[in-house]
Amino acid sequence: MDLEKYNEKRDFDRTKEPKGELHKSKGALQFVVQKHKASHLHYDFRLEIGGVLVSWAVPKGPSADPSDRRLAVHVENHPMDYLHFEGTIPAGEYGGGTVMVWDTGTYHTEGNEDIKKDDSLMQKQIEDGSIKIVLEGTKMKGAWHLVKMKGDQKNWLLMKSRSDSDSNEKEFVAKSVLSGRTMEEISKTDVEWNSESAHQKEKEKPLQKKK
Ligand code: MN
Repeated sequence: MDLEKYNEKRDFDRTKEPKGELHKSKGALQFVVQKHKASHLHYDFRLEIGGVLVSWAVPKGPSADPSDRRLAVHVENHPMDYLHFEGTIPAGEYGGGTVMVWDTGTYHTEGNEDIKKDDSLMQKQIEDGSIKIVLEGTKMKGAWHLVKMKGDQKNWLLMKSRSDSDSNEKEFVAKSVLSGRTMEEISKTDVEWNSESAHQKEKEKPLQKKK
């Protein structure tokens, strides 16, 4: 697990995204889903595995309907600090646009409720192209599957498991679980990133007057 591609793609003098450094969280494994209004609106699904956030771009976002399989394109690993990243990547930079923390929480592998941090099993599931996990988020709850498409390097399918109906689409509200803000509200607020404390300081950015 490394972050070379993540660092290569970004100019950290320009973007407020965190620099890529490996570190594992202390408690249970973490996940985050970020709503990202880049050139195309999509959701980024990220799972902590081996000290990084292994990431998939999901164009349509997750669906609570088990018959609704959503394309999830495997993209570069992101650093653990990205769990808390919400703000706007400057236009013209890689991934330029607004990022919302749409959902976050902990997860564990399916059938292993007692094992809160099974990194080695997750590494094996990635290699096997079959991930079966239980999410404990605010919006996404219960068993979810992420399955690699046969004969494909990047394309996976994200789906709610038929085994339970814990997740409710009605809970998929369009606001940040971190700040309660809408995409529009985030886009109007400048966020100062402080990676050392992993806390964000927010300040209002004066709206630019159009000439
Ligand atoms: Mn993205």
